[in-house]
Amino acid sequence: MSPSLSRKNYFLTVLNQFEQGSIQIDGLEKELQDLILDIAHSIRDKMPIRAEIIHRANLLFKEYNPLHLKVGMISEDNDVGSVDKQREGFENQLLLHTEFIDEPHYLKRVYMEGLISIFEALEKGDLELQQCILCDNWFIPYKRAQVAKFCSSKCRNRYNYLMANNKHKGVQV
Ligand SMILES: [Zn+2]
Repeated sequence: MSPSLSRKNYFLTVLNQFEQGSIQIDGLEKELQDLILDIAHSIRDKMPIRAEIIHRANLLFKEYNPLHLKVGMISEDNDVGSVDKQREGFENQLLLHTEFIDEPHYLKRVYMEGLISIFEALEKGDLELQQCILCDNWFIPYKRAQVAKFCSSKCRNRYNYLMANNKHKGVQV
């Protein structure tokens, strides 16, 4: 089993940060942002991931290698459940994992984890993405929902309130 490289669905956090702040970025960060958005739009529109997107991703991975491999021991010091585990013969259990080279506050590291997490989600298959019709937030729709338009019940309620308000005004005119 290969270690997972990113936090699950971290790309949603990254996607929903793009619009805010609206800071000027260029270079590697801009390329990462454009790539994540292109992938998200493809998934939203149920289009296949184009070869050109894969090519751009591989160029970026070549330019900036964000991860290194680490192997460690699960020891008594940092594992609360170690007493039980030792009884079951799990002592000196090895853990192969990955670590990001840069600190979490670097934008290129944030975007790179976003990119990796979207690829990890795609690898598992069946990924759907939508944007809220009220606030534009990206979200993963519930499988059973036939039509998901809103990122949250808050947005759905707000939308219904606005519609009802408009209707009311319409009657008065
Ligand atoms: Zn919303």
